[in-house]
Amino acid sequence: MTTHLAYFEDTYKFDDHAMLVATHRDEKGHFIFLNQTIFYPQGGGQPSDQGAIEVGDVIAPIHSVRFIDGEVKHYTNQDYSSLRGQEARCLVHKEARLFHARLHTAGHLLSNIIESLYPEWHAVKGHHFPGQCYVEFMSNTASLEDIPIEAVNKEIAACIEKDYTTHVEQVSGGKLQELYPILNYPIPSDQPIRVVRLGDFPFSPCGGTHVKSLKELKGLEITRCKIKKGIMKINYAIEQGE
Ligand SMILES: [Zn+2]
Repeated sequence: MTTHLAYFEDTYKFDDHAMLVATHRDEKGHFIFLNQTIFYPQGGGQPSDQGAIEVGDVIAPIHSVRFIDGEVKHYTNQDYSSLRGQEARCLVHKEARLFHARLHTAGHLLSNIIESLYPEWHAVKGHHFPGQCYVEFMSNTASLEDIPIEAVNKEIAACIEKDYTTHVEQVSGGKLQELYPILNYPIPSDQPIRVVRLGDFPFSPCGGTHVKSLKELKGLEITRCKIKKGIMKINYAIEQGE
């Protein structure tokens, strides 16, 4: 079976129902399969959701989630095989999910701004865990000058102020090559691919969770920029609590 990925449809859905179809164990511990899930599995530089799966009075805490071969494994603390075939309530830890979606969307914004202001740089890697966020860029020219952080921070603040909307849709691989010709990796042309776009910036393929619009990124700033061996690494953070 494959798990229906309900988290693709709504970043803000933290409470849902699903069928608990199976339980198993692997080297990481006990895990639960659902027929559909709002739990985001770790991937794309974004941490997994945490929360709980409840059946009646039984509460299975979910501490990590992984996507493997089309199925989502919800890792928990013990064997819940007695709950197979029952309807479960799924509860995602809301604050952490939203913070992760903000940090991940911030990575897109930073990449878009750098690529539009400094077209010689292309984003090649992102990591969006709280306290460790960065995007790495590679240059196709020999001149590797530091970028002015203040100017980029100003542009970030301006985009947030304009509150650009996030668009997510499915396109064919061929269409994606048209929309985004500077992709740094091969895309299968025969499968639908999920893409995300912030405002009028270019589309990019992505399976992560995103906030609705950029006002939710208030407090985003570059904290460090370093160029080493042709890679520019830009660290960023969003101050919480505003
Ligand atoms: Zn994304």
